[in-house]
Amino acid sequence: MNLKKKVLSVSLSSLLTLSAVTAVALPVGAVGNGPSAGNGQVTTSILHTYDSLVNYLKTQDAKQEALKLEVIGETVKGRDIYLAKYISNPKNPTILFLTQQHGNEQLTTEGTLEFIKHLGTNKTKGLLENVNILIIPMLNADGAMGDVNFSLDDYLAKGDRHLTRANANGVDLNREHDKKTSEMQVEVKALHENVFAKYDIDYMIDLHHQGTLSETEGELVSGSMLYPTNANVKPEVLEASKKLGAVVYNAIEPTGWGHIGKYNGGSGENIGRNGAAVRYDIATLLFEMRGMSDHNIESVALGQKSNGYLIKQTVTTLDAAVRALADNSIETVDESFWDTLPTQTNRSGEEADE
Ligand SMILES: [Zn+2]
Repeated sequence: MNLKKKVLSVSLSSLLTLSAVTAVALPVGAVGNGPSAGNGQVTTSILHTYDSLVNYLKTQDAKQEALKLEVIGETVKGRDIYLAKYISNPKNPTILFLTQQHGNEQLTTEGTLEFIKHLGTNKTKGLLENVNILIIPMLNADGAMGDVNFSLDDYLAKGDRHLTRANANGVDLNREHDKKTSEMQVEVKALHENVFAKYDIDYMIDLHHQGTLSETEGELVSGSMLYPTNANVKPEVLEASKKLGAVVYNAIEPTGWGHIGKYNGGSGENIGRNGAAVRYDIATLLFEMRGMSDHNIESVALGQKSNGYLIKQTVTTLDAAVRALADNSIETVDESFWDTLPTQTNRSGEEADE
């Protein structure tokens, strides 16, 4: 269908009719009859670019005495990779929040930036004295900016760029974590050498996005979670990981908009959730939020109407985790919900990988 001709043939007397026809005629399926119907257009318009993210971090750095920025390395295309640090006392428990190993999973980054602003307000007064926080808000900046050595012509998002999973070399950064650092892609090498090995990290939440159609108990999930599942993870690391999951679950599930399933993930050490736990004894949690910022598969990309609650889901997750570490309530939280948490299934059969 030719959009221009179709629109011209419609009577201009009815704006409602015009917009309805326009919506159906859009080829991307972001609105209209596609699986993402009701979630609005898939668009990059509210998303930070890499440059605006860097500006945002520098603005917060100037405002917040407790915040320090560090460049841990460069992407394939030469973009500086930023680490935001709040370290008040080396004896505090330390948590790392990692976003955008996959460049097309950006609402977790938007939520993380909100959380950084939140840490500079009175709402978190006193918190930073008792917990150290490390944040990598965009590991795969080249993928996030669509600045890659392969075509993204069939990607769906409207806007000034496309976002894609892999790095500029077409490599999935979340399948690199079992390699020698000298053999890793530069983004993952920077993470291992200049963050995992350099800082004494107790916990990590690895933030991702999955497809839009995962469900448990007949209801679409707002996200899914999983602890490390590699057999070489020490029992105490596994237990701490499950407790971190319990803290997040207890914060999200009662909200009304939150509905969490168990992620059906692999046990390979090449995956960050497993690799960080095995190599560095970091208690890890994978959190997969619903829907990606861009994709070439319609049922995977999510329209912008869902942005609000998914960004809030990230802020709520990070806030709950740091509070449970600061007051040590994570030690006594009951992790037995994992035993009954239903594993999600996918309505379309297209399960997106962590
Ligand atoms: Zn991912």
